[in-house]
Parts: sequence; structure tokens; C-alpha cells
Amino acid sequence: MTHPQAEGGSEAQETDYDVVIVGYGPTGEMLAILLGQLGYRVGVFERWPEVYALPRAVHFDDEIGRILQAAGLREEVLEITDPVLDLYEWRNRDGEALLRIDWSRPGTRGWPSANFFSQPELQRVLDRRAKSLATVEVREGWEVGRIEDRGDHVHVEVQRGDSGQAGEWIAEDDVRWVTARYLIGADGANSAVREIIGSEWHDLGFVPVRLADPRSDPARSGAGLEPDELAVVRSDPADHDRVGRTGPASLGVHASAG
Ligand SMILES: Cc1cc2nc3c(=O)[nH]c(=O)nc-3n(C[C@H](O)[C@H](O)[C@H](O)COP(=O)(O)OP(=O)(O)OC[C@H]3O[C@@H](n4cnc5c(N)ncnc54)[C@H](O)[C@@H]3O)c2cc1C
Repeated sequence: MTHPQAEGGSEAQETDYDVVIVGYGPTGEMLAILLGQLGYRVGVFERWPEVYALPRAVHFDDEIGRILQAAGLREEVLEITDPVLDLYEWRNRDGEALLRIDWSRPGTRGWPSANFFSQPELQRVLDRRAKSLATVEVREGWEVGRIEDRGDHVHVEVQRGDSGQAGEWIAEDDVRWVTARYLIGADGANSAVREIIGSEWHDLGFVPVRLADPRSDPARSGAGLEPDELAVVRSDPADHDRVGRTGPASLGVHASAG
């Protein structure tokens, strides 16, 4: 890693990487693999030293299956996924189906049309593949700070850190700069890169979802809900059941509820 000596302008220079990716969630991991496979020199910078261990995303369709296959991961991914062979349903407390998706038909792309998975497991599969590529350098425990657009390349400030006892980010004194031809923000819902490039946020009107532990919450079966509440119950391969309960705008939260 280098410190940028040049000030301003768009000096033609050899950069440390072709592409810097900010964030190493599933998006950053997949991008790193696909770009690395094409021969690009990729540097990934992720704030946290390890993959976040709790399950979040749980489902991908046959189209995403093809992308995972293009990353050379068909067999590994099939081993950690469960195809859905029937229906996905939301019911109210009277047992009436509010939402029903028929996933019983096979997908058209050589994959089941619906596949359930545990996000940490999938991320570990992607992680191994990314780190196996000579073109990809993954730096975990490095937070991206300032980003300077120099026209034909970009300067990126990265700072080493670690997680503290309470899981908080603790920055260390080690601050460096790297250069790249391109930078991609894959830094999640609270993306700093999005703010820096002035990308807009479109609010589709989703409402917050309260997640309860179904093992101790009677809402698991739908009983005990208010008439305008909703329970979503499913299991993932790691046996992490979860329940989402929403207010009147219930159907609007489909993409957020696990
Ligand atoms: C509680 C919860 C439940 C969810 N349930 C579901 C679900 O049921 N179904 C579903 O499809 N999806 C669900 N999701 C959403 C799913 O987890 C995300 O869509 C997915 O993780 C997005 O992947 P990503 O790589 O784009 O972003 P992220 O996974 O958020 O990864 C972004 C990464 O960027 C890193 N980063 C951020 N800023 C910086 C910086 N400045 N420098 C370095 N690194 C940085 C972060 O540490 C993070 O690791 C859920 C999310 C949560 C939080």
C-alpha cells in the first residue's frame, strides 16, 4: 500500500489495484470473485475482521444460482442450500393465507426456483473462493475513510481496527492510502460511498419489522397476534427460525422480514 504523493490533477500512474471494493458482505465477495476471475487486480477492504455470524438473508432464486455457478461454486452452494419444493405463505392468526408464492415448479436456469440458505454459511463459501484467487487481496479489519476522485483513478484512505468487547469498532493508529482505477461501494444499507457519490435513496414505504425469537414467542404459530399483525415463520438450513411481526402496512414489508 502506498501514500499518495501527487496532489490534484489526473496524473497517469500505476495504481495499487484495478478495483477497490468497499465492504465484504455477499455483494463485495461476489464482485471480488467475478472481477478477479476476469484478471482484474482487486483489493477488498472490510471494516470487521471476520464475517458477521448471524443469519440474515435466507433466499435466492434460480437466476442468482446461475451467478453463483459462474463464480465456480455450484457444488459448494448446493451443499448448503435447501430447495423449496412447494409453497411460501404468509398467514394471519385465523390461518388465512395473506400471501402465497408457488415455488413448486423447477426453475428455468438449471437451479430450483427457490433456495433457502444461511447467510454466514454462504458468505464463508464465497470468502474461500475469493481468497483462492491470486488476483484478489482481501483486507479484513480495515475501514475505508476518505475517498478522493482524481479523474482517471481514485485515492482511498484505509484505517486498521478491530472489534472491542461490546462489538464496537476500535480504530488503530495505522492509516494508509491505496490507489485504484475504480472504486465500488458494496458497503451495505448505510453506505458511506453512496453519500460520497451523491446517489439517491428511494423510499418505497417499507415499515420497520420487529423480529422475535420464535422459540420463546407464541407468535410462532400465528396465535397471539393482533388482527392487524402478521407472523412470518420459516426455517433455514442452520435451523434458525425467526418471526417477523408488522403493523397494518404488513404486506409492504415482505422484502425486510426474515
Ligand atoms: C436483521 C437482518 C435480517 C435480514 N433478513 C433478511 C432476509 O430474511 N432476507 C433477505 O433477503 N435479506 C435479509 N437481510 C438483508 C441481507 O442481510 C442484506 O441484503 C445483505 O447482507 C446485503 O449484502 P451486502 O453485501 O450488499 O451488504 P452487507 O451484508 O451489509 O455488507 C456490507 C459490508 O460493508 C462493510 N462496510 C461498511 N462500511 C464500510 C467502510 N467504510 N469500510 C469498510 N467496510 C465497510 C460492512 O461492515 C459490511 O460487512 C437482513 C438484514 C438484517 C440486518
